[in-house]
Amino acid sequence: MSIARWTAEHYQELQTQVQQALWAGLDKQCLFRAVLLVLDDAITPHADGTAEVRSCTGGKSYHCNGTCTCPAYAHGMLLCKHRIGAQLYKRTHNAVHARQQVWQALRIRDAQHAAFVTAMRAAPVVTTAAPWEED
Ligand SMILES: [Zn+2]
Repeated sequence: MSIARWTAEHYQELQTQVQQALWAGLDKQCLFRAVLLVLDDAITPHADGTAEVRSCTGGKSYHCNGTCTCPAYAHGMLLCKHRIGAQLYKRTHNAVHARQQVWQALRIRDAQHAAFVTAMRAAPVVTTAAPWEED
């Protein structure tokens, strides 16, 4: 899912994820660049959980799969902006998706409940005595 299709909820969740990253003690400059990568739509997630991240300067792109193919990572920066960006993107999307699934389940339950109430109201009123009342 490209951020072109993100909703307000996605941006709000991204903010939450950034806040958590700050609490976790991530480097602010690195985090800032990672957020720009997300907002610039430079991150392409793959179904297998890995991601392709376009470099800030453009032209190149790096593969993130728990490691990164960028020079910074090769020089020992294990939490490079590409990996952080890919994580921010993934966590944001997963959190929003999980919430939407819960809301969907609740909507279905509410609809079923409403249908049940409607059916009960529409049911004919029984005026004859129930079998257990006949003696
Ligand atoms: Zn990297």
